[in-house]
Amino acid sequence: MAKAVVCFDVGGTDIKAGVVSQAGEIITQKKIPTGSERPGKEIITDMANAAQALRDEARGSEIIGVGVGSPGLVGEDTVLLGGCENIPHLNGMRFGDIGDALGLPTKGDNDATVAALGEVSYGAGTGAKAALVITLGTGVGGGIVINGKAYRGATGYAGEFGHTSIDPDGLACNCGSYGCIEQYASANALVRRAKQKLIHALDTSLTPKALEDDKAKAVFDAARAGDALAAEIIEETGMYLGMALSSAANLLNLDVVIVGGGMSKGFDLLKPAIERSLNNYTLKLERKILALKPAKLGNDAGILGCAALFFSEEE
Ligand SMILES: [Zn+2]
Repeated sequence: MAKAVVCFDVGGTDIKAGVVSQAGEIITQKKIPTGSERPGKEIITDMANAAQALRDEARGSEIIGVGVGSPGLVGEDTVLLGGCENIPHLNGMRFGDIGDALGLPTKGDNDATVAALGEVSYGAGTGAKAALVITLGTGVGGGIVINGKAYRGATGYAGEFGHTSIDPDGLACNCGSYGCIEQYASANALVRRAKQKLIHALDTSLTPKALEDDKAKAVFDAARAGDALAAEIIEETGMYLGMALSSAANLLNLDVVIVGGGMSKGFDLLKPAIERSLNNYTLKLERKILALKPAKLGNDAGILGCAALFFSEEE
């Protein structure tokens, strides 16, 4: 019987659940509404019930464990230590209770770290020795995977790429620092900069309404249609990203950077700008071996990463 893992990708609205095989195939899946204001125990009970149901549905597989990716800091013994702001009552809960109910071991980690592991194990980063996976969405996230294992750092929150500062006198970040890349290269930052530039722009197809309705997509759409202001905003974003990525690449001797998140839909437009910036700021020997790729797995990276917690990390 092929080995498989019951996987949970915990989000503020839904919890994505599924059974994933060692080969990275999603055998069965379902969504559980998170109910983010509910008591944490209720959420854990729902997950345990779903785990039971999923195991029954995947009878043809040998289930070897339960994997969980969650916002926040998952510590020893799969306890969610804190930092899960969207689902406050989940803080302090133990994901291991889900596996215990089925007599299975449970492994858990931060959702961005787990998604990075998924992308490297089953997606765009297969074969990479040192990978950084960044997520460009409303914020900027990151996960580091070294030799097939998630790199957690000393106390579990390695990979905070979004708070790499590129300017000491730069924009204030909600982390308390200044010039964090999240304030320049997230979808929110892109829209904010576009709105500022629109005030003085004379000749552009971008409008405040389009930015309000379509957010960062409005900028990418306009750039695709040949709008010079939109192209300039994307060029700047790529330049800032390249600066921050160069620091990471020089430090970690990365062989690949994988770009995921909502903004990766515009990867083809961002890529040349990031590459030019990498050429300027990355050490030569490092630049030679560094590849820049779009993420492949989309929303499945999380649950595939939960399986990789068992399959990649123990080989
Ligand atoms: Zn910051």
